[in-house]
Amino acid sequence: MKDNNIIIELKNVSKHYGQTYAVEDFNLQVKKGEFVTFLGPSGCGKTTTLRMIAGFEVPTCGQILLNGRDISSLPPYERPVNTVFQRYALFPHLDVYDNIAFGLKLKRVEDENGKTRRLTRREITEKVRSALKIVDLEEYEDRDISTLSGGQQQRIAIARAIVNEPEILLLDEPLGALDLKMRKDMQLELKEMHKKLGITFIYVTHDQEEALTLSDTVVVMKDGMIQQIGTPEGIYNEPANAFVADFIGESNIYSGTAMGGLKVRFLGHVFDALDEFEKNEKVDVVVRPEDIKIVPAGEGQVSGRLVSKIFKGIHYEYLMMVGRSEVVIQDTKSLDIDREAGIIIEPDGIHIMAKELTANIYDDAYIDKNNNVVISERPFPCDVTQLVPGSTLDGEGYVIGPDGTVYDFTDADVKASIGLGDIEILDDVDAGEAQGSVVASIYKGDHYMLTVRTAEDEDFVLDTEYTYDEDDRVGIHVKPESIALTLKGEAKKYAKK
Ligand code: ATP
Repeated sequence: MKDNNIIIELKNVSKHYGQTYAVEDFNLQVKKGEFVTFLGPSGCGKTTTLRMIAGFEVPTCGQILLNGRDISSLPPYERPVNTVFQRYALFPHLDVYDNIAFGLKLKRVEDENGKTRRLTRREITEKVRSALKIVDLEEYEDRDISTLSGGQQQRIAIARAIVNEPEILLLDEPLGALDLKMRKDMQLELKEMHKKLGITFIYVTHDQEEALTLSDTVVVMKDGMIQQIGTPEGIYNEPANAFVADFIGESNIYSGTAMGGLKVRFLGHVFDALDEFEKNEKVDVVVRPEDIKIVPAGEGQVSGRLVSKIFKGIHYEYLMMVGRSEVVIQDTKSLDIDREAGIIIEPDGIHIMAKELTANIYDDAYIDKNNNVVISERPFPCDVTQLVPGSTLDGEGYVIGPDGTVYDFTDADVKASIGLGDIEILDDVDAGEAQGSVVASIYKGDHYMLTVRTAEDEDFVLDTEYTYDEDDRVGIHVKPESIALTLKGEAKKYAKK
């Protein structure tokens, strides 16, 4: 059924440039008068989507419907849409009036007899003045463009775009060229203008705060694909995945394991949560810094060491180390640091998301003195030379860089990543680097995905074609070259040899 309230709809829209998938299967309905923002990092396809709506790009596939009618092949000038760009694209040799009137002077309208005619000087002046009123620059009609500030120029660019009375205004990072203070002022003004005009705004930005401030609806994008569509509050409070959580505001994100019921394990503790996931499913757990309470040592669910404190104006931001994991906490109280403390996280502060598991990631791994990577207190032989491209190992365990710099990675914190297909399961429990019990086995069509848990409660998830039962004791082996390492801090460096 046609919904008359929907002004524009994108249906399965994709845009490919050769091998680049700029936009992939984009589906969105925008209501009349709505303020919608496309938010995402550089290169995620925001501008391309906007340009397809404007008609500057043709979708590779899919449909764009305006008021229920397919406009995929309609040229830009026949669409009731106008665009405001980051660079104002004003004519420097024309004054404010002529810049805004430019399009109107070319415009033809139909009179009551069905004949086309130009707009009269009086009609043009009326329209220019009412556009200037909306952007709050009524006194500036005769000013030269070069005498205006960046913010004023951007308002003129908006006036020029709205003077044609489009049904939809597209804004591509319109405040990107302004300084922070001007940006904040213009954000409020844009919101006002949106209210006054009552038309639909589709806005592009990579600034999450701007998106949350301005929009009725935020569309979070990554790699050409929509990650989440929601209200600013919905996106902030209930991010759909770890990417959205990380992109919107500050977050602590941990790899966790659902424990069945409403319980989830992360930071070495089993917490009560509000979301239920399959027992032993790998999950991402997001906790906002403001949802963590600091309590005296021994009174928390988890304890750790407060290592730093920064005053942020309305609160303090603390960093706590729980083992080798970092916990960022916001608290209005001023507390001493360099001491042990506890933390409490209430169930409604814990957001759990399904993880699409492609590799085992060990965030708290480190290198021991024998150049093994230690995961779950077990040393795994690995190739530490990958931490310095083009390096080699000398006979004494030092890594020699291509320029002769000597590196010592002993005790360096690393992130270790092991693919599911790179872990070999051994029936001989003591033959591998680690051992554990099978806690989950999921049939994936042509193989099993097994989870092996060690005595230290670390999980190794692996693909195997063999069947195992829960509680089977097994060994695991990983080839040194299959462990990918990323350095988390600085390595100890010595001068060139
Ligand atoms: P930014 O915030 O940096 O403007 P964006 O999210 O708007 O980024 P797009 O400009 O839409 O991203 O680009 C999406 C992807 O499509 C990028 O990988 C970009 O390099 C690619 N792309 C865009 N236009 C073209 C083109 N004309 N030819 C080839 N590739 C393109």
